[in-house]
Amino acid sequence: MKYVSTRGQAPELTFEQAMLTGLARDGGLYVPAEIPVMGHADIAALAGLPYEEVAFRIMRPFIGDTFTDEEFQGIIERAYAGFGHAARAPLVQLDQGHFLLELFHGPTLAFKDFAMQMIGQMFQAALARSGNRVTIVGATSGDTGSAAIEAFKGLEAVDVFILYPHGRVSEVQRRQMTTPPEANVHALAIEGHFDDAQARVKDMFNDFEFRDGVRLAGVNSINWARVLAQVVYYFTSAVALGSPHRKVSFTVPTGNFGDIFAGYIAKRMGLPIDRLVVATNLNDILHRCLTSADYTPDGVIPSISPSMDIQVSSNFERALFDAYGRDGAAVAQLMDELKAGGFRVSQGAQQALREHFDSGRCDEDQTRATIRRLRATTGELLCPHSAVGVHVAEQHLHRDVPMVTLATAHPAKFPDAVEAASGIHPPLPPRMADLYDRPERLTPVPNDLQAIETLIRERIAP
Ligand SMILES: *Cc1c(COP(=O)(O)O)cnc(C)c1O
Repeated sequence: MKYVSTRGQAPELTFEQAMLTGLARDGGLYVPAEIPVMGHADIAALAGLPYEEVAFRIMRPFIGDTFTDEEFQGIIERAYAGFGHAARAPLVQLDQGHFLLELFHGPTLAFKDFAMQMIGQMFQAALARSGNRVTIVGATSGDTGSAAIEAFKGLEAVDVFILYPHGRVSEVQRRQMTTPPEANVHALAIEGHFDDAQARVKDMFNDFEFRDGVRLAGVNSINWARVLAQVVYYFTSAVALGSPHRKVSFTVPTGNFGDIFAGYIAKRMGLPIDRLVVATNLNDILHRCLTSADYTPDGVIPSISPSMDIQVSSNFERALFDAYGRDGAAVAQLMDELKAGGFRVSQGAQQALREHFDSGRCDEDQTRATIRRLRATTGELLCPHSAVGVHVAEQHLHRDVPMVTLATAHPAKFPDAVEAASGIHPPLPPRMADLYDRPERLTPVPNDLQAIETLIRERIAP
């Protein structure tokens, strides 16, 4: 299995290389050269299997000879052992034909654990074999960083540095990043916004001397291995609802387009997905683009669903690559136009996107009202991101096709917003009830590339 860049200029890589590299050197994102297709019988055979076994069957064709079957099974077992629910991704029913896929039973209570726990184990296995160490650097608005620290803490072959905007993440998110005591994880509180943190990480990747010197690796949502791990729960949930004999639609609270792109891969693999509905909050650039073809960022509006507060949705580039008939030069051109302000998707590409994707937007009042209403009608307490999904899904329900909305975080991860909307303070699950008592450890850093690079070099010096 070969991986190609969406901008057509970087070399083809194996799965292992694409995973360890993250961003391609031409600025593009790696995608499989071709998508393996599963037959009807193979999909039907997934019914009733444990999550880990489905994960093995879905991901196996993508990893080439990076791991033996035995190694890969061990990786999957270890990745999901720390989840707080035996089903890993349980489905609950919200209404006639509407289901909620709970993706928040991992160690940091958000869906990012599904991919990050896998990546942690895969990095460790690949690096232990080669004897190499890598330095992982990531920017986070909260959920990615905590998931990464939780996934990599204590692993021998990696150091992890997570940049988060000082004072701009929730207390639960911050404590999840600052309380693990392992010496190989480092929470860096940068003076600035999430965009500053992300820009400095990009700068580090573009500083090839630094990048090669510290063996930089990225685990943000553009890493193909993360997308791959998220394909699995589309299969487990659709099969539970009758696929491949029955179509299923999904609504996905969306920011960087990684999670919903995994749904698109599931569809390309043969899962009979009818619609993939992109749900955005006020930061609705994707909804605007899918409805009007115009992709022009115009400033992030802070919302109560902060993990979706983005203006540039990095994984959307992967969808554009396919919509433009896998023309890397066309994608590179769009990304150049984006640097200069924005771009318009061609008519043909917009049509191609609309074959798979619908979209909708949910404002702050609608988010709060949905949290309140679902609590009253179902007893389910939604986090604000999941509420955005439920609100948008309700506008896309069809009688004959069940809808699955992805619940991307546990309500206790965003307790203030949930309490303001519902009057209920969501408690942390018992297994992490002492989070507020654990000592914190963080390093404030200025918004300055040199200073951050120096700090990283010093920390990883043997
Ligand atoms: C990251 C995140 C999202 C957005 O997912 P993308 O893959 O970036 O589209 C939605 N909800 C929560 C809780 C998240 O942490």
